[in-house]
Amino acid sequence: MNCKFCSEFITLELSFIDILSFKSLENPQICQKCREKFTYIDEMHCPTCYRQQTNSDVCSDCLRWQANRQPLINRALLQYDDAMRGFMQAYKYHYDIELAQLFKAEFTNFLQSAGAVVYVPIPVKNTERGFNQVTALINRQQIQLISILQVREAALNQKQAQRNRWQRVQSVQPFYLDDELISQISNQKIILIDDIYTTGTTVRQAVELLAPFTNQQIDSYTLCR
Ligand SMILES: [Zn+2]
Ligand SMILES: [Zn+2]
Repeated sequence: MNCKFCSEFITLELSFIDILSFKSLENPQICQKCREKFTYIDEMHCPTCYRQQTNSDVCSDCLRWQANRQPLINRALLQYDDAMRGFMQAYKYHYDIELAQLFKAEFTNFLQSAGAVVYVPIPVKNTERGFNQVTALINRQQIQLISILQVREAALNQKQAQRNRWQRVQSVQPFYLDDELISQISNQKIILIDDIYTTGTTVRQAVELLAPFTNQQIDSYTLCR
């Protein structure tokens, strides 16, 4: 098969251990060279949103949120750089669901590191996508998701890209809660899951709805920041 990013033919270099562990039998989707272009967030990140920086100070976005008294810790695995933008373009905007395989195992492990929590995915606002690009990144056999957040009809199919950063920040509540699931999150440690953390608005809109039902701080985990 060929790499989805550079079209080079993918040669699988399987070690004896890989074959024994069935590791590389997963569909690789992209070649090793393209895989290495993704950058993991290292320890030099903002402590509250994981933005990659050259120091570990609280970043300007987080200072702004703190001034609004909306505490939240976001943890992210990868940097939203050119390689990740290319991935998101293909995965999210061209609906290439097979690309979810690329980060599924890793993102699932990352979520499991949160410990004893309940996981609430951020729902997709654009129904044209036909699949939820957040939940497709998660191994559902290992992580149980509580889809208590629902998208309000008025928020459906809004063109995010056409609105600038702070218009998004100020936008109205796009979600509502599925009342029947409230008992499952009540007084639990809630982890919100999304694909990208950009301004932090979306996760805070979710926190606003969920916070009255739990006595613990709600945090989020995203694939990239
Ligand atoms: Zn490639
Ligand atoms: Zn920050």
